[in-house]
Amino acid sequence: MRVWNYSAGPSMIPESVMAKAQAEFCDFEGLGIGIVEMSHRSAEYTKVANEARDLLRELMNIPDNYSILFEQGGGRGQFAAIPLNILPEDGFADYFVTGHWSRCAYKECAERFGKAVLHECVFKNDDGYYEVDHSKMQVTPGAAYAYVCLNETVNGVELFELPDTGDVPLIADMSSDILTRPVDVSKFGAIIFGAQKNVAPAGLTITIVRKDLIGKARKYCPSILDWAVLDKHDSMYNTPNTFAWYMAGLAFKWIKEIGGTEALEQRNIAKSKLLYDYLDSSDFYRCQVAPQDRSRVNCVFNLKNEDLNAEFLAKAKEQHLIGLKGHKVLGGMRASIYNAMPLEGVEVLVKFLREFADSHR
Ligand SMILES: *Cc1c(COP(=O)(O)O)cnc(C)c1O
Repeated sequence: MRVWNYSAGPSMIPESVMAKAQAEFCDFEGLGIGIVEMSHRSAEYTKVANEARDLLRELMNIPDNYSILFEQGGGRGQFAAIPLNILPEDGFADYFVTGHWSRCAYKECAERFGKAVLHECVFKNDDGYYEVDHSKMQVTPGAAYAYVCLNETVNGVELFELPDTGDVPLIADMSSDILTRPVDVSKFGAIIFGAQKNVAPAGLTITIVRKDLIGKARKYCPSILDWAVLDKHDSMYNTPNTFAWYMAGLAFKWIKEIGGTEALEQRNIAKSKLLYDYLDSSDFYRCQVAPQDRSRVNCVFNLKNEDLNAEFLAKAKEQHLIGLKGHKVLGGMRASIYNAMPLEGVEVLVKFLREFADSHR
């Protein structure tokens, strides 16, 4: 049986996508071999790869002056690739830090590649909630780029308003909120995301980058992290993760079928509202993030009595609800309710939360 999976990543994939991949795993479209056995340079695979890329362009309305690169190395790999590609050795970049992942990106740049200006953009407000301070997101004149993470997967903080960076390219990590709502790609210099949170299995990373930012890499940037090399070779400079790329294509088709990012945004609003409304109405749980900054896909909360954490997770597992433990740097609980999670999965979770609370009165 399938359980309810609230894992932050790798995470739930739509059942119809899993079933389709299973059905054609051993024999793809009557070719007598599976996708994972096929040359990435074959005509058949090239078609699969191009279709996935084109669908992403369509779903996100990606303008023609942006390239879409399929890579490996994860979000972490791109934390290095970004400065290697667009930070001149004598330049500097602004990092707007709103949680764990933007801090990791900042550190990667500052400790290895050059000057990074740290802007702490989250504070604890008078109500004890973590809140985004948009006024801190000011670019320093002369910056090579400004970096943000639109959804902090660990902290449960999402940015619904983009900083105005003027002519300074805005570089965004959208690993966990990609395709969860429409975004205006033309506002960004580049968008990076790992596929394993919201799209496909782990091992695939996608970079959407404005073409004028390609071709500036440092001389010693490894070829495999150089956006110009990847772009020139249609992301086939080396052997890509063919299976994850194919699975991403299936997920993109599924998104298109259910109405694209507009429809998903409505679903994600409804799902997260149900969950946060319950948490706010309860005196048993507490959410740490200010209401206006709460992630629609990673809902971070605590039991007020943390001594009950282990029992909570055990009871959840008994009822086939898994992946609710918070990230190790933060503790507490986290329910990740990405695109693939139907409303029913959130209803089941709220019912469990309520019953667990009631059983401890
Ligand atoms: C998971 C995650 C990362 C790290 O991704 P890896 O693929 O494990 O390197 C980076 N940024 C965000 C927002 C994430 O959720």
